[in-house]
Amino acid sequence: MPIFACTLCDASAVKPPFSLDDSAPVRCFRCDCVVGTWGDLKDRANRLIALEQAGSVGRRSIRSADPLCHHP
Ligand SMILES: [Zn+2]
Repeated sequence: MPIFACTLCDASAVKPPFSLDDSAPVRCFRCDCVVGTWGDLKDRANRLIALEQAGSVGRRSIRSADPLCHHP
C-alpha cells in the first residue's frame, strides 16, 4: 500500500473536516483540493492496521505517514 499523497501537489498532510462524518471532504493541507472523504481516510487507516496485525506484510513494506499536520 503506497504512502498517501495528494495527486496534485504530492503533499502528505491533510486538513480534517470540521464535521467528522464519513461523507465529509478531507482537503490537502498544501493546495486545499479535496483528496477524499473522512470515511476514505478511516478505511485506509483501518486497512493498514489490519495488514500490520495480520503480519501478512513485513513491517518494512508498510509505510504509514501521519497525514495530519501538527502545528504547536
Ligand atoms: Zn495538494
